[in-house]
Amino acid sequence: MNKFSVFIDGEFLFFTFKSMGIQEKDIDWHAFHGLIRNKIENYTNARPMVGRIHIFKAESVAFFPVKRNEWFNNKLKNDIKEYKVYDADNRLITDYASLTEDDIEKIRLRAVTDLKDFKEKYMSGVLGRYRHITINNAFIELSLPGFVKYDPIIGRPIEEKGVDVGIATDMILKSDNYDVAIILSGDADLTPAIKQIKNKMKFVFLLRVFKEKPPRPVGISDQLSQLVDGYIDFPLCEIPFSFRISCDTCANTINVDNYFLSDINFLSREDVRLTHTCKCGQILDFNRTVFEN
Ligand SMILES: [Zn+2]
Repeated sequence: MNKFSVFIDGEFLFFTFKSMGIQEKDIDWHAFHGLIRNKIENYTNARPMVGRIHIFKAESVAFFPVKRNEWFNNKLKNDIKEYKVYDADNRLITDYASLTEDDIEKIRLRAVTDLKDFKEKYMSGVLGRYRHITINNAFIELSLPGFVKYDPIIGRPIEEKGVDVGIATDMILKSDNYDVAIILSGDADLTPAIKQIKNKMKFVFLLRVFKEKPPRPVGISDQLSQLVDGYIDFPLCEIPFSFRISCDTCANTINVDNYFLSDINFLSREDVRLTHTCKCGQILDFNRTVFEN
């Protein structure tokens, strides 16, 4: 009983933290890792020696064909009925029949541009955010198993494909190397993999992050909750933060490490206030860094 692996669904982590007003990069991952270890020790009466964290994100954005063909025309026709679709001048389209050939071509050309923009933004966003985290924490590994399906006509990502299977595969592949698997995800598609791991007589825990006490974790499927051996619970006030704040007046930068929100009586987002007086006399608001980036 001396090794654990944490498997994190990056999208789930992102939205869980986002709902609380925090970001992955604000977390002191080193301290967080140590706290996970302590909780495993409490649960299993054994102190794990080694622990790895694996974060899974989609690696690319899938291109819908945005060629001007029958498929595109039919999809546009259906999307206008079901979703909000805008024309090239950003007016809501209410009726396909009223569009001219020229209008349709403009919509298609914009879809091509939007898709390209989204792809670039997505990739640089993910890689930038996680590069910072993996460089500073050798025990964290980023895996990119799937892709994001983006719909260029309605102008938004519609789903992630392959990430859940990527997590499941990796959990099984690595299962000879750990004694305890910890999952941060809400996806019921992980249940077959969890059953396999349990059959190998490994502990499987869900890592739950939530804002309130008592916990009301959001978006975790019942099948998943009922299948695992237990929970590694983190209310927001127990998550350690590490971030940097710079002074606008003197350009001084202050690192805040190992800082817990519980220290400042966390009640709600609006109630959190922590300030630090810079050496130049300027009062800096940490709150701004954690919550408004
Ligand atoms: Zn200053």
